[in-house]
This record gives sequence, C-alpha cells and structure tokens, in this order.
Amino acid sequence: MTAAGDPLALAEALIARASVTPADAGCQALIGGRLKDLGFSLHDLSRGEVSNLLALQDEGSDAAPLLLFLGHTDVVPPGPDSAWSSPPFTPTRRNGKLYGRGAADMKGSVAAWIAACERLLATGPLPELRLGVLLTSDEEGPATHGIRAVAEELLVHTGPIDWCLVGEPSSARALGDTIRVGRRGSLSGTLRVPGRQGHVAYPALADNPLHRLAPVLAELVTEQWDTGTAVFPATTLQLTGIDTDTDASNVIPGEAVARFNLRFSPASTASALRGRIGAIVQRHAPAATLEWWLSAEPFESEPGALRAAISASVAERCGITPEANTAGGTSDGRFIAPLGAEVVELGPVNATIHQVDECVDIAELEALSGLYEDIIRRLARLHPTD
Ligand SMILES: [Zn+2]
Repeated sequence: MTAAGDPLALAEALIARASVTPADAGCQALIGGRLKDLGFSLHDLSRGEVSNLLALQDEGSDAAPLLLFLGHTDVVPPGPDSAWSSPPFTPTRRNGKLYGRGAADMKGSVAAWIAACERLLATGPLPELRLGVLLTSDEEGPATHGIRAVAEELLVHTGPIDWCLVGEPSSARALGDTIRVGRRGSLSGTLRVPGRQGHVAYPALADNPLHRLAPVLAELVTEQWDTGTAVFPATTLQLTGIDTDTDASNVIPGEAVARFNLRFSPASTASALRGRIGAIVQRHAPAATLEWWLSAEPFESEPGALRAAISASVAERCGITPEANTAGGTSDGRFIAPLGAEVVELGPVNATIHQVDECVDIAELEALSGLYEDIIRRLARLHPTD
C-alpha cells in the first residue's frame, strides 16, 4: 500500500506490475481500489484477455459536467533485460529519474492523475465537476478489445462526456511544451502483384511481378496526397516492406508483395486514398490485389474549456505556452472524440518511450500531478482566477 496523493510511490507500484500488452498484471485492481476509497463506483468493462476499467464519481448525478481521464495500463515489451541498466519491471530511482518500462508511457501519468484526485478529494467531492477514469490494457497492442470496444457502451454508464484528458506523453523537451488536440489517421495496405516464375535468362517465358510493382512504388512515394490542414501536417505514405516468393539470383519470382502505411490528415479520407492508390495500381499492375486495414480515423478537437484550462495551468505552473499539435502515432482519444467530448492529451516528456531505459524525471512527474490537480480545479471552478 502506497501513500495516497503520492504520484511517485504509485508509479513505482504500477511499474513493478509487468503488464506487457494485453496484460494488466493487477494495475487496474490497484487503481480501482484507490478510486473506490474516494467514492468512485467501478465498472469492469473487460473483453476477453483485455482489462478495461471505468471508475465514475457521483453516479446518477448528471448535474455537473464530466471530466474523464483516459489512460492505459499496458506497456510495450521491454526486450532483453540485459539491455537495460536496471531491470525494466524493477522501478529504480537514479539521478533524479524513475526508470522502468511504462515510466513515461504511461504509468507515470496514470499515477500523477490518481494522486491528484486523492489530494483534491480528500475533503469530499468537487461541487461543480464529476470525475471519471477509463483505463485499458490494450492500447499498445491491436487496440481492438480496449477503448474501441467499450466506446459503444460508454455513454450508457457515463452520460455525456464533456471533457477527456488523455495522459499520453505529449511533451517534447519540457513538461507542458506540447499538447495534442487530435491525431492523424492510420491506413495500412498490402499490395500483391502476381507474375509467372521463370529463369532470369529467359524473361520472355516469365512475367516479372517486380517490374510491374516498381513503377507503382515510384508513384506511391512521390505522390502528394494533400497539403494538410491548419493543425495537421500533410498526409504521408511510407513503404514498410517488399517481399517475393523466391530468394535466388537466377529466378524471376511468381509474386511480389509490398506493404505500406499512410498517416493521413482530415484533408483526405481513407476511401479517397484507397481510390487514388487503386487507380495507380490499375495503371501499372491491373491484375494486382489490394488489402486494407484502417486502424484509425483522424480526429481533431475544437478549442474549448479543457484546452483553455490546460493552457492556463501550463502557463502558470511551467511558465510556457503549450503548442497544440496533432503529431505522433494514434491514441485512444480517437474513440472518445466521436462521442462528443473535447479531447486533449497532456503527459510527460516522450524522449524515452518504447526505448530501453525508459524513464521519467521525478520532479517532472510530481509537477505533472500538480498540473493535473490545477486543471481539475479550474474546470471545477475552484481556481482563484477562474
Ligand atoms: Zn501510451
């Protein structure tokens, strides 16, 4: 049992639970117990091997607006322990930093938020705000049984969600320098070009699929898909793999396969991108087939009270104006934004996420918890200047 209101001790307790996606390893039970003590009611929304927990304050009261914290308790695999300076699931303080898998992504933010709630609610509920916490253990994995799956029934439990703060590590160099107000979409494609196998010395007797694939790839990597929007960079395509069914210098392969991924802005739709790529393929390799996987639609949150509260808190406590952008990978915020909530992401510096020796600066972790507390106060109209 760690001390209520202390983000560092709670972050350590979470890091010690080896929750490689989709495992939760008891993180949500620990957090749920802490929130239950604060008067939250718990809803287990788990799906199969994925743990999902919704904790809600003041159920049945729809008078106050709802601020939902969205986080994940799973982490990416650490790789070999020997590559780490200290074991990835043994939280270790060193040189003012807390080391361990998930320290920055995102057990640190989860601990900072829970500790902020504990400090704030020690004297009872907030008069003008309801708090909720939604956690999944399937953010780093396929993300199909996590927030994507529970989003459909979420509103039944929560009622309208006014604001959603996502604890993803948004900061680049200093705490609060960057907040995310949306994310790009992600569309993956697999292109299969059929050919006819043969001896390289007898090309007339074969049909080389790589020769049909090459001009397709040349167009894909030079095409300008769009020019982005005010807050989104232009859509990009990256090739991620090229394979053939043979591996000999004297054989023309019978099939060639290329894989690619697009990170797209709202200036393009997934279906328009599919259509444009299909037309390019049709010109050079009409017998080819395309398979698609749309893992994320882009989302963008208009500026609202949450962004205003975050900007004011960061300005006051960190002395900087956060840059609002849509960079980085996808986030589970994409499943909450369509429910009508204003979604903003604010978390620690992301310099070491998914890396060996992942860490969070201890002073920054404590400052983040203070920042979260300040943001909650502003939205609850408890802040002296609001
Ligand atoms: Zn994360």
